[in-house]
Amino acid sequence: MIQTTHHHYNKVYMGREMKKKNPRKLEDKNVSQLQKKLWPLFALYIKTTHSVDGEWCNCFTCDKPVKIGTAECQAGHFISRSYSPVKYDEDNVRPQCSTCNGYGNGKPIEFERRLKLQIGDDKVELLKATATNRWKWDKLILIDMIQNYKEQLSS
Ligand SMILES: [Zn+2]
Repeated sequence: MIQTTHHHYNKVYMGREMKKKNPRKLEDKNVSQLQKKLWPLFALYIKTTHSVDGEWCNCFTCDKPVKIGTAECQAGHFISRSYSPVKYDEDNVRPQCSTCNGYGNGKPIEFERRLKLQIGDDKVELLKATATNRWKWDKLILIDMIQNYKEQLSS
């Protein structure tokens, strides 16, 4: 009897464990978990939209060709990702090689010069002004962005 009961509970426990490994609903995730889902989608979207063939990008700050999906091809911020209001702003992120994004600290002077040529001075100034706005992460907005970028990438 005791053994059967134990066996039964063990089965229930294992069922829970298996459930845990399955992706949980987005609604159940916290802001940090949602951002961990959003960032790779957003980064891939940026690389893909700034790629000519969907496979290769040119580094925004040095023009070096980098292949999407490799460690050398990164999504680099003009204004640091620590400024939450512009962390997922499409105007603020461009494909960069690992050298410019890492050792070059994003090459902010060259990034700004080229960004102004691409999107105009006004949008760059708006980015700077937005960066220091008061900010509170909103789960629903993050969920919406995750779903939006998933759709964009699959179409
Ligand atoms: Zn580069």
